[in-house]
Amino acid sequence: METLELLLDKSNKENSINKAAEILKNGGVVAMPTETVYGLAASAYDNDAITKIFTAKGRPQDNPLIVHVCNMQMLGEVAENIPPEAFGLAEKFWPGPLTLVLKKGPKICNNVSAGLNTVAVRMPNNDIALELINKSGLPLAAPSANLSGRPSPTKAEHVIADLNGKINAVLMSDSSAVGVESTVVSLCTNPPRLLRPGAVTKEQLEEFLPDLVVDNAVLNELKEGEKAASPGMKYKHYAPKTEVTLVEGSSQDFAKFVNSKTDCVAVCFLEDAGILTEKIVYGSTRNEATLAKNLFECLRQLDNKGYKKAYVHAPTKNGIGLAVYNRLIRAAAFKVVKL
Ligand code: AMP
Ligand code: MG
Repeated sequence: METLELLLDKSNKENSINKAAEILKNGGVVAMPTETVYGLAASAYDNDAITKIFTAKGRPQDNPLIVHVCNMQMLGEVAENIPPEAFGLAEKFWPGPLTLVLKKGPKICNNVSAGLNTVAVRMPNNDIALELINKSGLPLAAPSANLSGRPSPTKAEHVIADLNGKINAVLMSDSSAVGVESTVVSLCTNPPRLLRPGAVTKEQLEEFLPDLVVDNAVLNELKEGEKAASPGMKYKHYAPKTEVTLVEGSSQDFAKFVNSKTDCVAVCFLEDAGILTEKIVYGSTRNEATLAKNLFECLRQLDNKGYKKAYVHAPTKNGIGLAVYNRLIRAAAFKVVKL
């Protein structure tokens, strides 16, 4: 199929969003910008449309999708028995990069939630996405708009590189502001559980959910036969073809370690760059949000430049650093060197 590239400059914006909304109402799939990463959207009420998402991405059938809403009324249409904490969290963090796992409403297709009785919901903080949901009048199920297993797309060009010819259209917007996928919290477990870290941090959530626990899969590899609370966490993820190793240690030790290797590249902090030879800078430790924003672009660059091996300087596990660490440890297939 031909993938339409829908432009969003002043003169095209309205037409493009209308066109995308029409495609969605007719059961098609459209890649849309969000503040986290680009999402591949289809109606959460249309089983056949959702199947197209799984097919285009090559996504395992047991990995459920996040449903995107544009207002609180729509939240009430997709979830049931919503606990009071959900409203407090929505008030504070929506629109924004926080996904809540709630009891599924009857209209949500089974393949959106991969047969579970829960649904993951969020309101994205991106005007184009909100307008698209509003104009289509549909809650939109949207996983990241990449081929399953590849680094998530933070630019329209990443979506085209992975999915051109496999989806109906791409809304050609700017780079994603946050750069890593949303924080996922289950309010269907007691105590509530952090399933995936993101830009809404564990520390911020604890103010609302003092007994929040961090799921084991956030930082550890699932054991053979262990059941994943968040099915997505069990897959090798976010991985470039380049072999990635995560390295923990000071700037000096990291540089000494990587400079002693041949045929490889360092993915490093701005603060390390001066003492490294072959390198890609992914951000500054002084502002870890920069690491999140550039992470997936840097992982894609590794492949584009054809590196065989990359050593990535590990961020902290605090604040948004935990989200970056969580993605990197998967990109590295859990290979970590502690200096
Ligand atoms: P993606 O849309 O590619 O960012 O992936 C969505 C993430 O949300 C995956 O890690 C899923 O496992 C998780 N998720 C979606 N729905 C549910 C649910 N009902 N229960 C638990 N995790 C979910
Ligand atoms: Mg994804």
